[in-house]
Amino acid sequence: MAAAPARRLPHALVIPYPAQGHVIPLLELAHALVDRGFTVTFANSEFNHHRVVAAMKESSCNGGGGAALERIRLVAVPDGMAPGEDRNNLVRLTVLMAEHMAPRVEDLIRRSSSAAADEGGPITCMVADYNVGTWALDVAERTGIRSAAVWPASAAVLASILSIPRLIEDGVIDAQDGSALSQGTFQLSPDMPAMRTAHLAWNCIGKHDGQEALFRYIVGGVRAAAKCDFVLCNSFHGAERATFARFPSVVPIGPLLTGERRGKAVGHFWRPEGGACLSWLDAQPARSVVYVAFGSFTMFDARQFRELALGLERSGRPFLWVVRPDIVHGDVHDYPDGFLDRARGMVVAWSPQQSVLAHPAVACFVSHCGWNSTMEGVRNGVPFLAWPYFADQFVNQGYICDVWKVGLRAEADESGVVTKEQIASKVEELMSDESMRERVEAMKKVAHESISEGGSSYRNFDNFVEAMKKA
Ligand code: UDP
Repeated sequence: MAAAPARRLPHALVIPYPAQGHVIPLLELAHALVDRGFTVTFANSEFNHHRVVAAMKESSCNGGGGAALERIRLVAVPDGMAPGEDRNNLVRLTVLMAEHMAPRVEDLIRRSSSAAADEGGPITCMVADYNVGTWALDVAERTGIRSAAVWPASAAVLASILSIPRLIEDGVIDAQDGSALSQGTFQLSPDMPAMRTAHLAWNCIGKHDGQEALFRYIVGGVRAAAKCDFVLCNSFHGAERATFARFPSVVPIGPLLTGERRGKAVGHFWRPEGGACLSWLDAQPARSVVYVAFGSFTMFDARQFRELALGLERSGRPFLWVVRPDIVHGDVHDYPDGFLDRARGMVVAWSPQQSVLAHPAVACFVSHCGWNSTMEGVRNGVPFLAWPYFADQFVNQGYICDVWKVGLRAEADESGVVTKEQIASKVEELMSDESMRERVEAMKKVAHESISEGGSSYRNFDNFVEAMKKA
């Protein structure tokens, strides 16, 4: 009698876009897949792979972060850039990735067909960051495996991308390069947040820095994503009800967050000063601390940096402030005289943010409104001083301040600075506004229910997992 063919174990190849705000949620998704019986090969760009591995090693030696990688194999794929090249040049990086990563990823999938069970066996499906682009989904198609695209930002922003043909037809953007034909705002429907044409991702890049190339690339991505089995989004139904109702092809599975608290690897690019932050927070009274962090990308000018320091001091509240080594243009941290000696706060280069936001001492979050930070604040019931810099962060600010009403706007004065007086007074307002606190607590509850057994994100994730297992 012929032996039954060996059952193929589910094995996902997960490919994040090479930026911190993408690697973290995609690794979180990888942990969720492992929880459902998958083995995962996690393919970072080689440059980021080394950063993640180094930060992980250091944090496990220093008690910070979370470092477990059960059934996740990290692999490095060169992105095509030279070692010292500027990886913040996203247009060039994106173009080179398509050229250099596609053949290597295809080879990785094909070679896995003879992999032993203890190496995870053959790769059976691909879960690629939507922003990685067409090439990844084309490779999945060529190698005959199922695929899903993951959008790690708000569904509203993805909806604006899916609506490009309509925006062209309505005369909102130019057909050739996507540039704004009207400088104002547009709304995809009356129940969705208003967006500014100038904040569309490709319009945040100058014409000479490859705006048209980025626009073409994004248009190509829409066509590719239409071919994959799922488009998943790191959001939840209760956060973007209207958008999910109008764009049912986008499936919410978030907020993807729990890894750090379960001791799982987070995918930090910098070593989080975990032990120091958390023991300092332990020594602060409940709901007393202002947490200040602007993500992985945002940069200040020296004047705004000093003003923020003075505003925190003026608030009279204890603060935990993340000052990345590269957060100020020119890399000089020019604190006001004596600030660090006088300060009632703690300054760190990188924090274990998910654990910080979950700490009972944290009262409010001064944030650049990156989508991950937004979901993390909401998930932990922390109100925001919403201070966006770039692209989708403005839409997220709209959600925080106008739709969910769980934060206040930081507003620059006519010289372009958010003043110390405003920072101090808005922090005070956030601390004392009980109705704001109630709304953010209510959202926390909805977020939690979404990902709990039987919740909408939980069920969506279940359907996705079952489909992917039928490789
Ligand atoms: N983050 C962190 N420690 C910090 C600052 C940020 O772990 O000190 C994490 C944060 O929890 C989030 C990610 O970095 O998951 C930043 O993503 P986000 O979308 O908020 O902003 P981006 O960096 O993409 O602008």
